Amino acid sequence: MPNKITPAVRTNNITYAVRDIVVLANQVAKSGKEMLYLNIGDPNLFDFEPPRHLVDATYKAMLENKNGYAPSSGIKEAIDAIEREAERKGITNVHDIFVTTGASEAIDICLTALVNDGENVLTPTPGYPLYTAIASKLQMMENPYYLNEENGWLPDIEDIKSKINYKTRAIILINPNNPTGSLYTEENLRQIVELALEHNLVIFADEIYDKLLFDGKKHISIASLNKDVSCITFGGLSKNYMVPGFRIGWGIVSGRKEVLADYIEAINKILRARLSANHPEQYGIKPSLEGSQEHLVIAMQKLTRRRDLTVEMLNSIPGISCVKPEGAFYAFPRLHMKQPDSHFVAELIKETGVVVVPGSGFGQVPGTQHFRVVFLPNEQILEKAYKAIGDFYQKYLEK
Ligand code: PLP
Repeated sequence: MPNKITPAVRTNNITYAVRDIVVLANQVAKSGKEMLYLNIGDPNLFDFEPPRHLVDATYKAMLENKNGYAPSSGIKEAIDAIEREAERKGITNVHDIFVTTGASEAIDICLTALVNDGENVLTPTPGYPLYTAIASKLQMMENPYYLNEENGWLPDIEDIKSKINYKTRAIILINPNNPTGSLYTEENLRQIVELALEHNLVIFADEIYDKLLFDGKKHISIASLNKDVSCITFGGLSKNYMVPGFRIGWGIVSGRKEVLADYIEAINKILRARLSANHPEQYGIKPSLEGSQEHLVIAMQKLTRRRDLTVEMLNSIPGISCVKPEGAFYAFPRLHMKQPDSHFVAELIKETGVVVVPGSGFGQVPGTQHFRVVFLPNEQILEKAYKAIGDFYQKYLEK
């Protein structure tokens, strides 16, 4: 028997619950069971469509043979459009903008350019698992701060303060949050700015869902609150413009130039080494940001009905409570039980075909159990799924 190829230790802790759960769902689907998928945050798989002018601009760029490598930071037309978008978001003191293969790549590059082995980054918990995966890769320590479910999933500033140490380099904010759908308040954001300035932290503001807001809520970009704080604001076309398969995102660096200069150069070294992001798709950025936003109006009407149904039906199940999401298309209901939520979810999928993601895949306050639902499917599917979850949960608790 030849020696096995051993993978690098840094991959040991990489999990991505959102996709990992699909392995089990596929096995169950093979048995012929009807499946209800409430696990995938891709609007295109449901009745949501990207704006036509975005697709047309990309197609036109392909026909015009904009099919070579792009400049490493992105094409000028897109960078200029993102700069104007930053202005609309109230972000001033911008020193660099770069287009990447999804916001995911921008986040990866900016962490890689910042954090040394053994240093740590404050990550919202529950939060999006990409950060945990990058942390493992970089052998950087995650320093989780807890979002408070009793307070609409807002961060607890005292908790953050108590966790900052001399090896803390950055604080990550996902606003609106995945998986909770919560929106940070201005007071919260101002407190985080103060901490970042005091401890020389870089704020990573993941604002990929900033246009998907309910009930007329206004989004506040943390970078707009202080022109001196070092901040990278991440955005992209995946969610607001519903083309996650285009893999187009960006980072906007703002703050004091003299503080950020070396860091910006390090980011650009990595950008150059990886050549460029997708080229023709970058021609969709300007039309998206500056063309008609009608698709958002239609999407938010649908999503509001689906969000309301989700909160109402889940809260009517004894032993489940669900905070009302204020943005994005996720809810993170709590299961008031002792069993691990991964067990609950696996049994739920096998028994009912309803696919959700266990809360443990997003990190959570120890001792609490949750699951994440994506409320992109239509009302009939959601109703059927929540009814099945309610019936299953009662039986599960009696076992
Ligand atoms: N950030 C958050 C909070 C997300 O939920 C996601 C995708 O689900 C991403 C980033 C990834 O975005 P992109 O498709 O632009 O890489």
